[in-house]
Amino acid sequence: MKKALITGVRGQDGAYLSQLLLSKGYEVYGADRSGDSGLWRLRELGIEGRVKEISLDILELTNIMDMFEKIRPDEVYNFAALSFSQLSFDQPILTAEVNAVGVARMLEVIRKIHPSARFFQASTAELFGSAASPRKETDQFHPKSPYAVAKLYAHWLTVNCREAYGLHASCGILFNHESPLRGEEFLTRKITLAAARIKKGLQEKTAVGNLDARRDWGYAKEYVEGMWLMLQQPKAGDYILATGQTHSVREFITAAFTAAGFKLEWKGHGLEEKGVDAKTGRVFIEVSKDFYRPAEVEVLQGDAAKAKAALGWAPETKFEELVSIMVEAEIKRLEVKP
Ligand code: NDP
Ligand code: GDP
Repeated sequence: MKKALITGVRGQDGAYLSQLLLSKGYEVYGADRSGDSGLWRLRELGIEGRVKEISLDILELTNIMDMFEKIRPDEVYNFAALSFSQLSFDQPILTAEVNAVGVARMLEVIRKIHPSARFFQASTAELFGSAASPRKETDQFHPKSPYAVAKLYAHWLTVNCREAYGLHASCGILFNHESPLRGEEFLTRKITLAAARIKKGLQEKTAVGNLDARRDWGYAKEYVEGMWLMLQQPKAGDYILATGQTHSVREFITAAFTAAGFKLEWKGHGLEEKGVDAKTGRVFIEVSKDFYRPAEVEVLQGDAAKAKAALGWAPETKFEELVSIMVEAEIKRLEVKP
C-alpha cells in the first residue's frame, strides 16, 4: 500500500485528492493547522475518518521533520498555502513565510531525511500575470501579487531541487479550479452561494469588484487527477493544468444566476454597473471598490497541451456545467441546513 502525505489537506484540493487516493488504495496522511475549520470538506466527501490526521504548521521546521521521520511517505502533495491572493496584499510577509519559505522547509527535509519521496508543488497560473493568449510552461513569468511572487520562489526552488539533487519534484502550474468545496472568499463560491441564498430569500444582493477580469475556470475534482498523474511519471516535470477557455467575472455571475433560475441583465457602467433581475427589476449585483485589487491579473488562460500529451490528462467539465454543479450544491446545502 502506497503512503501519501497531503499538506493543506483541509482545503479544497486536499479533500478531493484524499478522496482520489483513498479510492486508489493509498494510505492517506493529511496534514494541516490544528482547528476544525476545514474538516467540513472531508466530511462532505464522506472520508473524514479515513484520512490519518497530522497537525502541521509549515512555518515550523520541527513539525515537518517529525512528520517525515514518522510517515516516510512515497508521495507528498504540498497544498499548504495562504491561497487567497487578495489577502496577500495585506499579509505579504506571512505569505512569503508560508508560500515560499514553507516550501524550502519541506524540500530541505525531503532532501536530508527522505530523498526518495516524490514531491508535488502547487504552483499557480498567477506566476504568469496577465496573459493575452493561452500560456505555455515555457512562457515568461510576471507575478502581480505577493501571493504569486512567493509562489514563484517556491516554483523555482522545486525545479532547482530537481536539477541540483535529482529529487522527483514536480510543479503543477494550476489555473483556477473551483468546486462546491472552494473557499467562500473566492469569486466563484461567493457568487454561487449568493445566487442560492437570494433564491431562497436569505439574502438581498451582493457586491463584487472587477467584472471584466477573465479566468480559465476548471473543476477541481479533475485537476487533482492531473496532479496525481504527475507523480506517476518516471521523470519529474512541470505541467500546466487548465481548460483553455476563459470567461469574465460578469459571465460567471450571469451563468450562476441562470443556474439558480433567474435571468440577469446588466445595466450601467463602471462602479455604477448593476446586475438586475429581468423579471422584477431587483438589484442582485452591485460593484464596490472594496473588491478591487491593487494590481489585477486581467486575463488568465492556459494551454494544457503538454499535460494532455505526456499525462493523458484533459478536463471534461465545461464552464456552464461547473457553474451548475456549484449552484446546485449550494441550494442542496441550504435545503438541508437553512
Ligand atoms: P485552500 O486555501 O483551500 O487550502 C490551503 C490549505 O493550506 C488550507 O487548509 C490552509 O489551512 C492550509 N494552510 C495555510 N497555512 C498553513 C500553514 N502555515 N501550515 C499548514 N497548513 C496551512 O487552497 P486550494 O485547496 O484551493 O489550493 C491548494 C493549493 O493549490 C494551494 O497551495 C493554492 O495556492 C494552489 N493553487 C490553487 C488554485 C485554485 O484555483 N484552487 C490555483 C493555483 C494554485 P487554513 O484553512 O487553516 O488556512
Ligand atoms: P484569483 O484568480 O486566485 O484571484 O481568484 P478569485 O476568485 O479571488 O478572483 C478571481 C477574479 O475575480 C479576480 O480577477 C478578482 O479581481 C475578480 N473579482 C471580482 N470581484 C470579486 C470579489 O468580490 N471577490 C473575489 N474574490 N474576486 C473578485
